[in-house]
Formats: sequence, C-alpha cells, structure tokens
Amino acid sequence: MNAAQSIFNQPRSGIREILELAQTLPDVIHLEIGEPTFETPAHIVQAGCQAWQCGDTKYTPNAGIQPLRQAIANRISEEQEIKVEPAQVLIGIGGVEVINCAFRAICDPGDEILIPDPSWPNYRTMCTIGGIRAVSYTLLESHGFEPDMEELEQLVTARTRMLVINSPSNPIGVMFGEEQMKRLYQFAQKHDLFILSDEAYEKITFDRQHVSPLRLDTDGRVIAAYTCSKTYAMTGWRVGYTIASTSIVAQMAKLQEAYISSVPGATQRAAIAAITGNQQCVADMRREYAAHRGIAIQLLQSAGLAFFAPHGSFYVWIHIGCTDSKAFAKELLMKKHVAVAPGSAFGAAGEGHIRISLASSVEEISNGISRLIAFLSA
Ligand code: PLP
Repeated sequence: MNAAQSIFNQPRSGIREILELAQTLPDVIHLEIGEPTFETPAHIVQAGCQAWQCGDTKYTPNAGIQPLRQAIANRISEEQEIKVEPAQVLIGIGGVEVINCAFRAICDPGDEILIPDPSWPNYRTMCTIGGIRAVSYTLLESHGFEPDMEELEQLVTARTRMLVINSPSNPIGVMFGEEQMKRLYQFAQKHDLFILSDEAYEKITFDRQHVSPLRLDTDGRVIAAYTCSKTYAMTGWRVGYTIASTSIVAQMAKLQEAYISSVPGATQRAAIAAITGNQQCVADMRREYAAHRGIAIQLLQSAGLAFFAPHGSFYVWIHIGCTDSKAFAKELLMKKHVAVAPGSAFGAAGEGHIRISLASSVEEISNGISRLIAFLSA
C-alpha cells in the first residue's frame, strides 16, 4: 500500500538530508539550521506557563483569541500607519501553517503561484500537496537578487492567482525597498493577483528599513504573513499570523477548522506577552545577529569568497561555483564536519551556492567558516 502519488513523489528536503547525515558524525559545526539559538525571553515563557496553570487548556476560536488579534491589529496599525481591524487577523500554527492556509484559500487545484527561486522550500511543497502549480521567478545576482519585472510579465497566465514575496528573504537575506515594492504591487494590480508577503524575518534587519506591501494595499490583495518564531526565538511555540481582508480571513478560518481547529490558548497568551511586552529582547537579538554577520563577512571577504552581505534575516548566501551543491555540502560535512544548507534545496537557481546560518554561536560561525575556507583551498 502506497501513499498518494503527489506525496510519494515529493523529494526529501535537501537540508534535512544534511542534518541527518550530520547526526551520524561527532563534533559537527551546525550552520545549516534556520533556528535562533537564543532562549525564548523569560517574560514570554512566564505568560505561557501562567496560562496553562490557570486552566487555559480548552479549544480556542478558529481564527485566534480576541486579545491576541487585537494586540496584533494594534501593532501593525501603528507600525505600518494603516488601519487594521482584529477581524483582519488570523492566528495559526506558525508562519508555515498560515501561509499554507493562504495558498489553499486563494487557489483551486491547477491554479498557479509565482514563487521566488531561490526561496524557502516549503512554498513549493505546499503547492504540490494542494495541486497548485508553483511557477518560479528568478532572483539573479546580476539583478541584485531583486525580481526581474520582464520575467514576471512573461510568467503570468490565465491561471496565475498569487505572487509570493519574501523580504527579508530566506536564503539570500535580500530586502526590497519602497520602489521595488511599488513595482510588485502595481504588477499584482495589473494582473489582478493576490500578494503573499512572507515577512517572517521583518525584525531581523541590518542596513535597510523593512517595507511591507500592506502599506500600499488599497483593495485587499495583500496577505501578509508573520511569525513569533524568529522575532522572539519562539520556534517551538508555533505561533504565526496573517493580516488580510476580513473576507479572506473568514475563509482561512474555515480551513483552520479542518487543519488544526485552533491554536492552543496558552501559546497565544505567550504571544500577547511577546507582542505587547518590552521589545528590548528583539533589539538585543538583532544586535547579536549583526555582530555574527560582521564576523562572517570579514572572514569570507578575507578569503576572497563571493557572497551576498545580507540586508536582513540571519543567513549568508555564498557562491561556491560548484555544479552539485548537495554533493559539495556532503563532502564538506564528511571531510570537515561542517553542516551547511545546499543551494539546490532552495530551487534550481540556488545551484552553485550554499547557505550558512548566523543563528549559531560566534565560535561556531568563525570555526565553521575557517573550515569551509580550508576545504575550498585544499
Ligand atoms: N517563512 C520563511 C521564509 C521561513 O524561513 C520560515 C521558517 O524557517 C517560515 C516562514 C515559517 O516559520 P514558522 O512556521 O516557524 O513560523
């Protein structure tokens, strides 16, 4: 007995393969994982624990509890200088689940979504399992890793329903400015597309201001996705959310009933503490990531390697020039015990690159990069 063909044919994650191989070796330096090493700040943990202890152990509404929806609506309204109502907020199990919900709420099987290449591999998996066609648009180094509007124009068909934007991006760390966002928004308007703006790394920025297309939205075509995972080092709590029009949120809430029913109340209480509490913890983590970025840049530059100095997120995208980045990552792991993410895991345009994470300790980053340099010059 086999599983459904669409799942059966789904290739394994290239990053997970490296991770599993790394687990068979001693003393591996892990630069492949996209997870903060920081602990969740104490006041957030406390709010979650208190909620469990006070009996917050029942189902919650499909779209999330009202105080969290209100807190998020207040935050986005203030930061983006727009008016967001709580009914425009949907809480889910991490960014991954709300993005999947958004894809399914907008696309029927056979519809198409424009997805950046390279990008977070989950977008493509979500399309496959939903019977949606993932159509790649390339982020080329020669174009500053920004979308080529002419290519986008050529990719639109009668079945295109959505454009995915991810700024700051995983795996490149590129961020799109105001002008680029306007071009993308106008493109979406011209072809009547939804925009899924994945802003998971909105608070991890170095030398640019984060710009959300929500500010430009005049007709409810932007669905902006956020998560507590990266901003507050809350990956295991599983809280993400989207801002969309009230009618789209109502449809997504129906999907949530089938997928997850609801998000645990206590983790939503922890998210309230995160979003309404002192934001110093966010600034502190950002400062640490910036310091890690500085160390990585200095080492890579002094070795003459080609890489993109990230504007945001916590990754460095390194051009290796190999023809098989998975084989390269495996050999680096076996010979030097350094685990990195192969570029091909992020799409065809990622081939020839690797991604390293800055969400590791200073020692791991400097030792890991030194071993990479030694491997390349051997
Ligand atoms: N979007 C991007 C680009 C990511 O890299 C991730 C996680 O790595 C997510 C969304 C979702 O994260 P989570 O489901 O933990 O909120």
